[in-house]
Amino acid sequence: MASRPLFGFTAIAALAAAVGLTGCGTGDDSELTVYSARQEHLIKPIFDRFTEETGIPVRYITDSAGPLMERLRSEGERTRADILMTVDAGNLYMAADAGLLRPVDSAVLRERIPEHLRDPEGRWFGYSVRARTIIYHPDRVDPANLESYEGLADRRWRYRLCMRTSQQVYNQSLVATLIAHHGEEHTEETVRGWVANFGADPFSNDTSVLNAIRAGQCDVGVTNTYYLGRLLRENPDLPLAVFWPNQDDRGVHINVSGAGITQHAKRPDDALILLEWLAGDEAQALFAALNLEYPAVEGVQWDPIVAGWGEFKADTINVAEAGRLQRQATMLMDRAGYR
Ligand code: FE
Repeated sequence: MASRPLFGFTAIAALAAAVGLTGCGTGDDSELTVYSARQEHLIKPIFDRFTEETGIPVRYITDSAGPLMERLRSEGERTRADILMTVDAGNLYMAADAGLLRPVDSAVLRERIPEHLRDPEGRWFGYSVRARTIIYHPDRVDPANLESYEGLADRRWRYRLCMRTSQQVYNQSLVATLIAHHGEEHTEETVRGWVANFGADPFSNDTSVLNAIRAGQCDVGVTNTYYLGRLLRENPDLPLAVFWPNQDDRGVHINVSGAGITQHAKRPDDALILLEWLAGDEAQALFAALNLEYPAVEGVQWDPIVAGWGEFKADTINVAEAGRLQRQATMLMDRAGYR
C-alpha cells in the first residue's frame, strides 16, 4: 500500500466542524436513509460534507451490525433504509447472502475500488481498509524473531501471546483467510499453537490486548492498527510497535468497512450517488482518517499517524472469502479450544 501523508486529523476535524450541521434528521421520504454500524462520529462529518456538495440530505441510524441486519430483515419491503454500512467483510457477506443488498453496476466503483475489496457480485464495496497485524513490546521482543501469523504458534511465544476473543468477527475473518490459504488441517495446527501460547484468557476487545502488552501481561498480540492509533493520539510515546507479518508471502491480513444498497431501497439513485461519492479522493481521505484506517482507493493520502507505521504488502485475497469461510473458521476455533 502506497503512503501519501498530507494532512492530519486536526485538519480533518476542523474541516468537519466547519461544514456545519445536517446529519440525523427526523426522517421523511426526501431523505436518503443509512443504517450504519460505523459509529456516528466516524460518519457524520462525511454525510455532512456529502449533503453540502450534493444537496441530498442523509438520515442515519447507528447500531451494531447484527441488530441492523435483523431490523432490515424484519422490515422487509417496508424498510426506510437505502444503504447498509458496516464493518468487516464477514458482516457484509452475510447481509448479501441473506438477500438484504442489491447488485449495483457502477463503472465508477469498479474502477475506483480494487477488486479484492468488493463483492464479486457488486452488492457491497469496501471503503476503508483495516490492517490486522502483529503488535509487540519493543523492550521485550526482538522483531527479528517475528515473521508471520503462523509463526505466533511457535513455542518461543509460550505464555507471551494475547488475542481477542474468537466470538468477535475480526479473528474469525483472520482465521477464515488462513483456511483459504492453507486448508483446515494446517490452520487448526496454527490456532492450537496460538492457544497454547496465550499468556492470558482471550480479551473482549483489541484495546485490552494492547493494554495487556503495554502492562507486561504478554509481549505480543494481534490487533487492528487503528486501535493502536487511538492510543498513540493520547500518548505518542507508548511503548508498542507495529510488525507487518507475511511480507515474504501473501501479505498482511486486511479487512474493510463498507456499504451496499439495500434490496428494498426507496431512493436507489441517490444511494448510488452516495456510494460513488464515497469513492472520491476527498471522501476517501476523510473516511479513512477519521478512524485511522487506510483508504480503499490507491493514491489517497494517509493520516500521519498511519503513515508513521510505514508501507506494507497486504493480502489481496478477496475479502469476501472471510465471509464465505466464517462458519468453518468459528467451528475450527472452537475445536482448537480458542474461546
Ligand atoms: Fe473495530
